[in-house]
Amino acid sequence: MDADVIVAGGGLAGLFNALQLNRAGLKVTVIEKKNYPFHRVCGEYISNEVLPFFDKLDVDVNTLKASHINQLEITSVSGKKFAQPLDLGGFGLSRYTFDHYLYQKAQAEGVTFMLNTHINDIRFADNRFEVVLPGQTLTAPLVIGAFGKRSNLDKQLNRPFFYRRSPYVGIKVHVKIDFPDNLIQLNNYKDGYCGVVKVDDGKWCMCSMVHRDDVRKYGGLPEVQEHIICKNPYLKELFGHAELLMDKPEVINEISFEKKAPVEQHVLMSGDTAGMIAPLCGNGMTMAIHSSKILSENIIKHYKLSQPFTTQQRQALEQEYTQAWNRQFARRLWLGRRLQKLFGSGRAVDVAISALNLMPGIAPYLIGKTHGQPFA
Ligand SMILES: Cc1cc2nc3c(=O)[nH]c(=O)nc-3n(C[C@H](O)[C@H](O)[C@H](O)COP(=O)(O)OP(=O)(O)OC[C@H]3O[C@@H](n4cnc5c(N)ncnc54)[C@H](O)[C@@H]3O)c2cc1C
Repeated sequence: MDADVIVAGGGLAGLFNALQLNRAGLKVTVIEKKNYPFHRVCGEYISNEVLPFFDKLDVDVNTLKASHINQLEITSVSGKKFAQPLDLGGFGLSRYTFDHYLYQKAQAEGVTFMLNTHINDIRFADNRFEVVLPGQTLTAPLVIGAFGKRSNLDKQLNRPFFYRRSPYVGIKVHVKIDFPDNLIQLNNYKDGYCGVVKVDDGKWCMCSMVHRDDVRKYGGLPEVQEHIICKNPYLKELFGHAELLMDKPEVINEISFEKKAPVEQHVLMSGDTAGMIAPLCGNGMTMAIHSSKILSENIIKHYKLSQPFTTQQRQALEQEYTQAWNRQFARRLWLGRRLQKLFGSGRAVDVAISALNLMPGIAPYLIGKTHGQPFA
């Protein structure tokens, strides 16, 4: 194996880094523990911030029949509702479809993929990486960490956030419901919220976050749906008439919004691996894609093809990437953590919805602060 860059993890951050670096002439190997296509826990609403960048990369989501979203609603357990048009808006697209499309595109353009392959460890010595897989070890001058919100690799790299437990559980289902094509609805309940949006293929995504203590208290997810989630009258109505289009819900544990570092033990982190914004901001995928652009541009700037990659070049790359990442994302993540604390508390959400209805200018302000500008 003679890759210039090994990308650890093939979600949006990994796939977009691979597309860009491969086009710049670098040899890229993506290692992903699963096999495309597959479902992920995700609300599947993507901000239109990404569209100029997609045009540049010839990524056409219209061919994938993404829905167009231009309306936001926020609801509470007491039945209060705030509604507002979304200035920039976004689109709904399942990760099952989108990640598979990007994988096929990257593979057709020459990126090497190792699928169904679990990375056991990443080590750095003598200015090179060793990436340890079952039965073999690969080496490369650069490794991108794109292994998502929480992975065995966080433990191997001894990242501090890994040892702070997080109580949040995420659940995603695709359903058929009677629901507008252009609306994203954020529905709150005790300790969590559920986003609803139309995606491709005549399906709607309903993605919920709940608290682990509630799952323990009521004995399981169906019980939490009955006793907690459906206390919100809008969700009671939607779940009451939903036709489930998946064999079983997709579930993940330990969703953490703790601070992380964009570079750790010389691994260049991208997407959720560098930092995850609270899902209610609806901006994690855009940040994953934007962070891949910032990282790939820095790698292309500092890594000279066919020349040894010196420790000085590595140091400059790591410094510039860290600074650029913090400039673009650190404030958004800070605000996301604060909003995450507000949502999930019944009274606070009621007060917030009343305030939003009285002063509708607050919502675009908050959306602006948790999102970025369109980028290319
Ligand atoms: C409940 C919930 C709702 C959300 N809703 C939205 C939303 O509506 N809009 C939005 O923009 N964002 C949303 N997000 C955030 C969004 O899903 C993430 O920000 C986005 O998926 C990050 O992409 P990524 O490439 O960094 O990570 P991922 O997409 O998680 O990809 C990481 C990949 O690494 C692989 N991997 C991990 N460990 C290993 C290993 N050891 N070896 C090999 N492969 C490995 C995994 O299999 C995975 O494929 C939501 C998140 C949650 C939890």
